[in-house]
Amino acid sequence: MTDRRANLELHEREMAGGAVRLASAPLTLQIEPTSVCNLECGICGRQYWDSLRNPPGEMPAWVLARIEPVLPSLVELVIGGYAEATLARNLWTVLEAARRSDCPTRLITNGTRLDERMCARLVEAGLAHLVVSIDGAREPTLRKNRGIGLEETLSGFDRMSAAAKAAGVAPPRFHISFTATRSNVGELAELVDLAADRGVAEIRAGHLKIYARELDSESLFHDVDAARAALGRARERSEARGVTLGLPGFERRGADCLMPFQMLFVKWNGKVLGCCSAVFENDKYSFPVGDLADRSLLEIWNDAKILSYRQALRGQGAYPEQCTNCAFRFDTYDAHLRLL
Ligand code: SF4
Ligand code: SF4
Repeated sequence: MTDRRANLELHEREMAGGAVRLASAPLTLQIEPTSVCNLECGICGRQYWDSLRNPPGEMPAWVLARIEPVLPSLVELVIGGYAEATLARNLWTVLEAARRSDCPTRLITNGTRLDERMCARLVEAGLAHLVVSIDGAREPTLRKNRGIGLEETLSGFDRMSAAAKAAGVAPPRFHISFTATRSNVGELAELVDLAADRGVAEIRAGHLKIYARELDSESLFHDVDAARAALGRARERSEARGVTLGLPGFERRGADCLMPFQMLFVKWNGKVLGCCSAVFENDKYSFPVGDLADRSLLEIWNDAKILSYRQALRGQGAYPEQCTNCAFRFDTYDAHLRLL
């Protein structure tokens, strides 16, 4: 039995038994190897956050060294945050460490740097999942939202497929992440077809987070009927084309968020968050639980703040402040209003 399998089985026993302090390790880690990005997308929290509190930086070797012991027990290492992970010089060190531990890897990227050389290196590094953020199916939409071209973005999947073929291995599983707005939600059905043509297995669409007043009018919550109709058309296309499609909802009120039972997020500077709700420095929405400069990941995993969340989910106390109206629990306009 691998460490991974043993950890998963222990996790499942602890969850079934109602445990709050977990002997099992996190199932997933998400890490931010760099906080630098090469785009300036208008919907992104980067454009509105406090830049003094969110300086550029790259994960140093000592942080990587503190992550490495956990890799053998992870179901997956997710690489990416509010930044472009392929800009990190340490990306290859991270992927190599994961490979040594036989740990599946998922890379989140804006797709701008998936040239032939990058694709060949990612294939060689054994990347399992490639997630490309694409917020439109038409050239003008993508130009407006991200400042990049549609074809140059989608063709990254072709280059990855070609690199895998040349190496004689299966390509990573392809995903698209789509932030839905009133301007682009009507294009989601078209994107399903474009994605299916490129071998994309899965699209996850989510609500826009309203980081600034100028984003407000783009929220789907302002015209739910139109959004539902567009999402329904996308659902039909996904069923016709065999693409797995995750859609933003309007129904959840106080859903269970299991992130503090399953994952930790490690920022480039070694600060650790209990979830991926807001992975930047702010006082309101993020869930800071520790610092790798002071404690190991496994010590932080049972930090008092995480325990208080787990107790609340078990009905034994109040939720931490940032969880009481979180977009991961509530499909409401208020929960997505996150002014910075
Ligand atoms: S590519 Fe991603 S991280 Fe960079 S600005 Fe755009 S949304 Fe933000
Ligand atoms: S409810 Fe929100 S803030 Fe709380 S742990 Fe879940 S994602 Fe994080």
